[in-house]
Amino acid sequence: MADSNVLKIRHLSKTFGTNVVLRDIDFNVNAGDVTCIIGASGSGKSTLLRCINLLETPTTGEILYHDVDITDRKMNVPEYRTKVGMVFQNFNLFNNMTVLDNCMVGQVKVLKKDKEEAKKTAMMFLEKVGMAPYINAKPRQLSGGQKQRVAIARALAMEPEVLLFDEPTSALDPQMVGEVLAVMRTLAKEGLTMIIVTHEMAFARDVSNHVVYMAGGVIEEEGAPADIFGNPRKNSTKEFLTRFM
Ligand code: ADP
Ligand code: MG
Repeated sequence: MADSNVLKIRHLSKTFGTNVVLRDIDFNVNAGDVTCIIGASGSGKSTLLRCINLLETPTTGEILYHDVDITDRKMNVPEYRTKVGMVFQNFNLFNNMTVLDNCMVGQVKVLKKDKEEAKKTAMMFLEKVGMAPYINAKPRQLSGGQKQRVAIARALAMEPEVLLFDEPTSALDPQMVGEVLAVMRTLAKEGLTMIIVTHEMAFARDVSNHVVYMAGGVIEEEGAPADIFGNPRKNSTKEFLTRFM
């Protein structure tokens, strides 16, 4: 029977050599969920997102996208990534392309859209993130906050169902964090399903409806933001939060 789960992570483990980086990770993402993943550096947060986006191959376990196991070798990965997009800490823009081309190339190459249509969509999302005045700029001419807003517009232009964010504000100067979080807050309000790795605890508390706290490759604790931040059950969660808040 159909349910509202968009993603189901089941017994997911990832090892690099003898290093067990993720161990028996289990959680669900429903349509419209904003899931924030928090945890210390090295706890496996990026690896988890990279597995969900198939930038890493899980060692064991399943990742079900609408009940289809994406770790199946028959999976069409580029097509899957149009549905489950990703925004990176270091933007990963194409530095030799203009802002507009950055936001068009995936639409043309992967979605096979014609250029006019791709341009219309790119412009729509560049306007949404406040970057329409910069369409002819190259990434190096932009601030970090502007680059990240372009990267978000580029991801949105693929019209994904889920967007993954890996510490989208960690590489930014403090005065630019707010402009990126504001864009993400708008997307959350509009009901976009998002999984966000972040150290911005106030943002996580305010915007998410589900918080996953990771430590040493496992989910230590998860729940509603009011519970995780207001009434954590485990001492390890409490200790982590006192260091960050
Ligand atoms: P986080 O994002 O929470 O800081 P990561 O997922 O980046 O954590 O890393 C978790 C652990 O996995 C770290 O010990 C890291 O060194 C290791 N790791 C990540 N990617 C690789 C890789 N490609 N090869 C070997 N070890 C890796
Ligand atoms: Mg990381």
